[in-house]
Amino acid sequence: SASRPSMSFDGSARRIEDNRRFMPGGVNSNFRLGISPTPLVFERAEGPYLYDVDGNRLIDYYLGMGPMILGHSPAALRKAVHDQIDKGILFAGQSDLETRAAQLVCELVPCAGKMRFGSSGSEVVQAAIRLARASTGRTTILKFEGHYHGWFDNILWSTAPALNAAGPEDSPVPVAGSAGQLPEAAHGVEVLVWNDLAALERRLARGDVAGVIMEAAMCNAGAIHPARGYLEGARAACTRHGTVLIFDEVITGFRLAAGGAQETFGVTPDLATFGKAIANGFPVAAIAGRADLLDLFATGGVVHGGTYNGQCISMAATVATLESLTPDLYAAIDKRGRRLMQGIAASLDRAGIRAVVTGFPGIFHVGFGLEAPARHYRDLTRLDRPAYIAFTTALLRRGVRALERGAWFLSVEHDDAVIDATLAAVDDAAREVAKSRA
Ligand code: PMP
Repeated sequence: SASRPSMSFDGSARRIEDNRRFMPGGVNSNFRLGISPTPLVFERAEGPYLYDVDGNRLIDYYLGMGPMILGHSPAALRKAVHDQIDKGILFAGQSDLETRAAQLVCELVPCAGKMRFGSSGSEVVQAAIRLARASTGRTTILKFEGHYHGWFDNILWSTAPALNAAGPEDSPVPVAGSAGQLPEAAHGVEVLVWNDLAALERRLARGDVAGVIMEAAMCNAGAIHPARGYLEGARAACTRHGTVLIFDEVITGFRLAAGGAQETFGVTPDLATFGKAIANGFPVAAIAGRADLLDLFATGGVVHGGTYNGQCISMAATVATLESLTPDLYAAIDKRGRRLMQGIAASLDRAGIRAVVTGFPGIFHVGFGLEAPARHYRDLTRLDRPAYIAFTTALLRRGVRALERGAWFLSVEHDDAVIDATLAAVDDAAREVAKSRA
C-alpha cells in the first residue's frame, strides 16, 4: 500500500530511557509524558517536517503545540534572528524593534488599544487576572470546564492534563488539576460549563464577578465552536454587570485569523492573551486590550514584570512573524485545512470508525467515538481515547505525527503534496485500526 508502517523509534526510546537520569520521566514537560510508542527525540525541523534521531522524516501536526504557523524554521524568521543576534540580546530597556512589534499587535488585534509583552501564555494570563481584579475591586474570576489557561495554582482548575468534571452541570465543582496545588487558590475562581449563556448570565447578575476568562473557541479539549450568540451574549452580560471579559487567545491568536478568534467571531473582549503563533516558536506572549485597563500597569499600581519581556531575539522573531501573516497565508491554510478535515472524516467513515472532525482549518480536532460535535467539555467524556491513540500510533509509523489528544495544527508549509501524503497515511492507519478492533 501507499504507506507501509515501517518506521521504528528505538533510538528515541533508548534516549528517553537514558534521559530519566536527568529529567523526571525523561522529558521536560508533563505534556510530553505517555506518548505512544515513546516520546520522540528530534535532530532538526524544516517546513512541515521533523527529523528524529532514528532518521525518520515526520510530517508534523503538533507544530510545537501550535506556534509554528509559518512552519519550522522559515527563512524570513531565520534571517531576522541571525541579524539581531549580532546587535544584542537583552537590553533591560526599550528598543525600536519592540515598538514595531507592539504596533503590529495593536494593528492586527481588534481589542488591542495597548499591549504588553511577556514570555509565556501562563504568565500573561496572570497579568490579565490581576488587571480584572484591580480594575473592578472584585475577587471572583469565572472560568470554564476544560479551558486551559496555564499551569498556575489559581487557574489550573477543571482542566488538562486530566479530563476532570465534577458536580452537576448547572453548578460544577472546581477540580484541582495538579497534586500540590494550594486548595485555597480555588477561593478566587468559580467554574462554569461553557456555551450555556443562561448559566453565565445568572452568575454575572449577582454583580460580584471581576472577570470571565475563556478560550473564545475551545481548542485545548476538542475544537469546539462557540454556540450561536454565546460570545455576543457573554460580551453584553459582562458589559451590563461591569465584569472584565478576557479571551485567552494563546492558541487561537494569529492562527484562526490575524486578529484571532475575536476577528473570526466579531466579538471584542476587554482583554486578550496571546502566545504561541505570535512569534512562530520563540518564547513570546502578550496581553492586549482596552487602553484604560492596560494603563493600570503604568498608573494604577498594578505590577507586571519579566526579565525577558521584549527580549531582542524574540522581538525580531515577533516582527518577522507578524509581518508574514498575509491574507494569502490564511486563505492557503483555510483551503488545505478544509481538504484535510474532509479527507480524514471520509477515511474514518470508509473504515467504519465512528468519529467527528470539528474546529477550524488551522486547528481542528478528530474525536473518535463521538456521534455529534461536542458542545462543551462534558461531551468529551465520551471520547474513545484508546482507539484514537491506536490511530495516532499507526499514523506515526507511517510518518505522520499528530497529537494523541486529538488536535491537529496546520502551517502554511503543509502544501497540497503534504496533505496528499497525509491522507494516504490516514487511510491506511484507519483501516489498520478498524481491522485490529473488529
Ligand atoms: N492558554 C491557552 C489557551 C493555552 O493553550 C496555553 C498553552 N497550551 C496556555 C494558556 C499556557 O501557555 P504557556 O504554555 O505558553 O504557558
